Amino acid sequence: MALIVQKFGGSSVADADKIRNVARIITETYRRGHSVLAVLSAQGDTTDDLIEKSREINRNPSRREMDMLLSTGEQISIALCAMAIERMGYQAISLTGWQAGMLTDSSYSSARIKRIRTERIRKELDKKKIVLVAGFQGINKYDDITTLGRGGSDTSAVALAAALQADLCQIYTDVDGVYTADPRTVQGARKLEEITFDEMLELASLGAQVLHNRSVEMAKRYNVNLEVLSSFTGNPGTKVKEVVKTMEKMHVSGVAKDKNIARLALVGLEDRPGIAFKIFSLLGKRNVNVDLILQSIGRNGSKDISFTVALPDAQLAKEVMEENREAIGFQSVELNENVAKVSIVGAGLAHNAGVASKMFEALYNAGININMISTSEIKVSVLVDERDAERAVQAIHDRFFSEFGNG
Ligand code: ASP
Ligand code: MG
Repeated sequence: MALIVQKFGGSSVADADKIRNVARIITETYRRGHSVLAVLSAQGDTTDDLIEKSREINRNPSRREMDMLLSTGEQISIALCAMAIERMGYQAISLTGWQAGMLTDSSYSSARIKRIRTERIRKELDKKKIVLVAGFQGINKYDDITTLGRGGSDTSAVALAAALQADLCQIYTDVDGVYTADPRTVQGARKLEEITFDEMLELASLGAQVLHNRSVEMAKRYNVNLEVLSSFTGNPGTKVKEVVKTMEKMHVSGVAKDKNIARLALVGLEDRPGIAFKIFSLLGKRNVNVDLILQSIGRNGSKDISFTVALPDAQLAKEVMEENREAIGFQSVELNENVAKVSIVGAGLAHNAGVASKMFEALYNAGININMISTSEIKVSVLVDERDAERAVQAIHDRFFSEFGNG
C-alpha cells in the first residue's frame, strides 16, 4: 500500500465528463489499496477567464485581490470532483490551500511555499478518505490567500508529495508524457520513457510547457518519484528522475523553443574594464534576468554587447539602459522582440563534441541564420528570428531523431 499524489491539469478537468474521468482514475488507484491525494487545477480556461473578468473592472488591481479571485477556479474543481467521487460510492474530501496547510511567503501572485502543515491531510487519509487539494494556492502569514504563479499546481503537487513522503507523484495532463519536442507542432516527436531532473528543468524553463519548472526543482531537491502521463489514454508516461538508464546512448533528449524572449543590443560601448559589470548590475537591481549574452571583440576602443531577457521585461530593460546611458556610455540601444531561442538538451551533451556542430549544420541546411549561441553542460541554445523558430526546431529534430537514430 502506497501513498500516491496525482495532479490533474486544467484540460483534464475541463467539463463534467472529464471530471468523471478523473474521478475514475483516482478511485481506481484507491481501489488498488493505495492512499490517494489529488491536486487539481482550475477547469479549462477558467484562470484566463477570471483574469479577463478582472480587466473589465480594473486594469491594475492589487495582487492580493487578484489572488483572491484566481484561487476560486481551483476550488470549483476540487468540490466538483469530490462530488463525482461521492457519487461513485467513495468517501472524498476537498481542501483549499489553507485547509491543506500550504503556508507560503507573502508575494501575492508568485508566492513560494515555505512549509506544509500536513496534520489535516494525514487525518483525512487515515480516515481512508480520498483527499482533493486545490492546486496553485496557499496562505501567508496574514492569513491571506496567495497563488504560486501560472502553472503553479504542478508545484503544489510536488510539494505535497515531498512533505508527505509520497511513494509517487503523477502529473496527469493532455499529452502522454515528455516528448523529444512539442508533439503538437513537431513532426516525428517521440515520447521519452524517462528523463533526468536536470534535462527536464532545462526543457521546462525553455518553454516545453509540460511541467512548471519550480515543480521540477523541488522534485529534484526532495528526490520525488515523478511521472508525467495522460489522463485520456491510459498509456505509460515519462518518468522524471535523477539518473536514467538510457543516458549513455542518448546524447540529446529534446529540442525546445522559447518565443517569449527579446534581445537588446548596446552598440558602441567603450572597450574598457567594468562595462559589463555596470550593465548587468543595473539590470539585476531592477530584477531583470538576463539569459544569453554576447560581447563582440573590441575594435578601435569600441565594442558591442547584446543580451536576451524575458519578453515582459524587455521594455523595462531598455528603459534602464536609456536612463543610464551616460553612466554606461554607449551610442545606441536596439530592442528586437522578434527573436526566439531554440535549444537542444541532453545529459550526455558535455561529453559529445560533435553534437553542437550537428545542430548548426541542421540550421545551415535549412538556411536559418544564428544570431547568438550559448552552451552549457547539458544544453546548446541558439537565438534565431522568431519567424524561423518552428522550422529551426523541426530541422534540428529531424537531424537528431530521424530513423537513423539519435547521436
Ligand atoms: N490554474 C492555474 C493556471 O492556469 C494554475 C495551474 O493550472 O497550474 O495557471
Ligand atoms: Mg500546467
